[in-house]
Amino acid sequence: MALYENTLKQIEKAATLMSLDPELKMVLDEPMRILEVSLPVRLDGGALKIFKGYRAQHNNLAGPFKGGIRFHQQVDLSEVKALSAWMTMKCSVVGIPMGGGKGGVIVNPKELSEGELERLSRAYARAIAPIIGPQVDVPAPDVNTNGKIMSWMKDEYSKFVGHDSPGVITGKPVEDGGSVGRDTATAQGGIYVLDMLAEDQGIDPTKTTVFIQGYGNAGGFMAKLMHKKGYIIKGVSDSRGCLVATEGGLDPEKLSAIKDEKGSVTDAKGLEGFENTTVCDDQEFLTGECDILVLAALENQVTAENADKFKTKFILELANGPVTPEADAILASKGIIVVPDILTNAGGVTVSYFEWYQNVNNEKWTYEQVQEKLIKIMKDAYKDVAGNRDKFACDMRTAAFITAMGRLEKLWKEKRA
Ligand code: NAD
Repeated sequence: MALYENTLKQIEKAATLMSLDPELKMVLDEPMRILEVSLPVRLDGGALKIFKGYRAQHNNLAGPFKGGIRFHQQVDLSEVKALSAWMTMKCSVVGIPMGGGKGGVIVNPKELSEGELERLSRAYARAIAPIIGPQVDVPAPDVNTNGKIMSWMKDEYSKFVGHDSPGVITGKPVEDGGSVGRDTATAQGGIYVLDMLAEDQGIDPTKTTVFIQGYGNAGGFMAKLMHKKGYIIKGVSDSRGCLVATEGGLDPEKLSAIKDEKGSVTDAKGLEGFENTTVCDDQEFLTGECDILVLAALENQVTAENADKFKTKFILELANGPVTPEADAILASKGIIVVPDILTNAGGVTVSYFEWYQNVNNEKWTYEQVQEKLIKIMKDAYKDVAGNRDKFACDMRTAAFITAMGRLEKLWKEKRA
């Protein structure tokens, strides 16, 4: 099913429960603007290839549109629309003055050379330049994009406007106007949410086993931070396979070094420190025995087809949209608590907002300043969501949407008055 249908169902469920202003509901049901671009890129062999890309600007009631750019072969318009709407909700859950946007290019970047990737990134930045800007729409990295790509795009946009414009994009390397703490922000924010969940639900890290699907930027850092807190990392996976400890846990620091060198977490099997490990397929992994399952790969991983088989107690959504609305209902009936994406992974956009704020105000914050502000925002957001969960007797996702849309409703009324 098209991903945007999932978003609409989530909005509908929360809007009904909270009796959201029906006019605001109509506004939130559609992105405010969608741009489709065609990107001619010269390949190294001399041929010209046309790539297709999108930028969706869902809503800017709270501030400039904000959201990542994804380079992936499965990008489509429905996905970009869904991700842009979740960004609106995410920024609102954590109460930062930003709206929701998202971009994507249909490409498998692993098939491109460095030069081709740079030409594609610059072509995309030129194509969307007329509708972005520090006070209009501020992109960032997402799946398969990184600091280097953000720097190329910032450079291209700066040429377009004729002056250096660091505030147009976030997730840049620190030496090129980025913020300290941005690379680990999504996982760090997830940890602050997890700390609140542990307090709320009486979780003892040292007695808690964890599976993490997706050992990339978000999932890899999450594994390291959870390990430091004493959680037992029992299994991790990436697009090439799943690695599970048959005894004890996995050491993420050692594992990352192996993945960086060899390509996959599964390459650690049998190596020193990983003697007691085995590999398994994706479905076996997802439905394996653990206390916390962290989803940090892509959307639609838990669906009506497999939800009934899950054995975990908690699901932490570091990825966007990994659980469908149908699966949500099945998981709830099994007593599995899902901590939703728009709360769990909001640390990424929060530190992106810090980066933008520093850029436009010509400031440089320390790592400690970033963490102090991030922890407060994430913990307050958790409290607000848990408060609405109890007030409306609903699941945490619906409570997070109610929190987000409650703030938007206030702005809507103020701006209309
Ligand atoms: P990434 O590309 O760094 O990592 C993705 C990881 O998932 C890779 O290790 C990849 O091998 C793995 N993967 C892909 N398909 C898989 C599958 N079927 N099974 C197991 N693993 C699979 O991307 P990322 O930035 O870490 O983003 C991951 C998710 O987190 C996305 O949904 C993204 O939107 C979300 N997110 C990321 C950030 C951020 O700051 N990086 C912020 C908010 C949300």
